[in-house]
Amino acid sequence: MTGKKRVVSGMRTTGKLHLGHHHGVLTNWLKLQDDYDCYFFAADWHALTSEYQDPAIVKESTRDIFIDWLSVGIDPEKATLFIQSEIKEHAELHLLLSMITPLPWLLRNPTYKDSQSDEGQGGDDATYGFLGYPVLQAADIIIYKANLVPIGVDQLPHVELTREITRRFNHLYGDTFPVPEPILTELSKVTGLDGRKMSKSYNNAILLSDDETELKKKVSSMVTDVQRARRKDPGDPEKCNLFPLHPLYSNKAEIDEICAACPKAEIGCVDCKKILLKNLIAGLAPVHEKQRYYRDNDKLLDEIIANGNAQARAITRETMLEVRKAVKLG
Ligand code: SF4
Repeated sequence: MTGKKRVVSGMRTTGKLHLGHHHGVLTNWLKLQDDYDCYFFAADWHALTSEYQDPAIVKESTRDIFIDWLSVGIDPEKATLFIQSEIKEHAELHLLLSMITPLPWLLRNPTYKDSQSDEGQGGDDATYGFLGYPVLQAADIIIYKANLVPIGVDQLPHVELTREITRRFNHLYGDTFPVPEPILTELSKVTGLDGRKMSKSYNNAILLSDDETELKKKVSSMVTDVQRARRKDPGDPEKCNLFPLHPLYSNKAEIDEICAACPKAEIGCVDCKKILLKNLIAGLAPVHEKQRYYRDNDKLLDEIIANGNAQARAITRETMLEVRKAVKLG
């Protein structure tokens, strides 16, 4: 026991990670791993809720995601990194929690409701697994007796469901789990090439693994301030889709110059993109170097994953002994 509060967080393995992940979730994990007892997992079962028709991407992405985590500095010495589906106890607890979760709690979950209004009842998302997603999420969290769950404000209803399910379990079978608290994390300002949320499904993402050619292609295609139709039109960095990347990659003098010149049309978007591209390539170079290192060291990666899985499993086995006793099955 470290005496530190415990944090659990996962990422769905639905594709390679992008700058939205890097400057949102991962920046936050980097801070958390220094102060808390962290459990970070590749959520491959969760990925299947959307990728069940093409599951090969899930396995492929799991390895890629580990490489990306390690390459940005997530440290297996500080945090336990593991694969959800390797820890079968998550599935057992999910099943037991399913028995006590009232159906209306799941039916009113906004993610489920939205999917139904977009697709109509009976769409591809209307599976038992998708409806029960928050129950699996509750199992993922409380099986580690987590105290804290880092989330963006959009995920608050999910954590609230986890809290309700935990309270219900404790009420029915005696106090077994702490009720986890959300830690609200700042949402990343980085958006996709087209100005929408950066996402694989919108095909608008700059990947952490994009090489120079790809970065060049993507940065040149980025939407900027849409009011700035011509070079001589003044722009506004505040309204520009590309600008939030500058504070992450460019130096202060460059940023000050862009902020002063853009509103007077003294710099064009093409030149502004060139500055960003140069800094993005330099900023991602150490990440790319580590990605190559881990890609070339299969055995090391296998070891890191196996160690993390073993550490996670040791805890979940203990928890499930307690849980089985509580529900009179042990
Ligand atoms: S000059 Fe830069 S900050 Fe201004 S609108 Fe163009 S890309 Fe955006």
